[in-house]
Amino acid sequence: MAGFFTLQEGARKKIILIVALFLLAAVIAIVTRRSGSSAANTEMALKCRACKHAETMTQEQFEEMSKRQNEMYIEQVARQNPQRAEKLRQLIKNPDRAMDPMSRREINVSLPSWGTRDWPLPCPKCGKNAFFNAIQCPDCGEIFFGEDEHGRPVRICPKCKYNLKSNK
Ligand SMILES: [Zn+2]
Ligand SMILES: [Zn+2]
Repeated sequence: MAGFFTLQEGARKKIILIVALFLLAAVIAIVTRRSGSSAANTEMALKCRACKHAETMTQEQFEEMSKRQNEMYIEQVARQNPQRAEKLRQLIKNPDRAMDPMSRREINVSLPSWGTRDWPLPCPKCGKNAFFNAIQCPDCGEIFFGEDEHGRPVRICPKCKYNLKSNK
């Protein structure tokens, strides 16, 4: 019977190498999963154009908010175009398919990117559809819009004049 210790030197090295690679793969899997969850906790800033209420939320909370919006959006679409609504439901169920160029052509629908210019979220304070993605100043914490009313980018904090462009 050839146990581990009676194996030829070369075979033993091979086994050690395989075990080491296994461990390395496991470590990589753990590390990437950990960094994935920390990315989900990245703070996002949002601000209401109507009442100026501003807050930060985690990526996870934002996704939760978007999910609710998507459901309402699909209900609206369903009243006019049930077929399109069904495609959108499939898209939510299987978002990976939307990444694949072939099936993307086949699905041919997309969900709004909430918080952007055309797709405001409802403000948690005043309830108006005027809650947009914003920028939080890394220096003083002020939350401000990343673009002015003409759509031009704003990269200087209106409160402390911190310049996001030159400090990046
Ligand atoms: Zn508001
Ligand atoms: Zn500032």
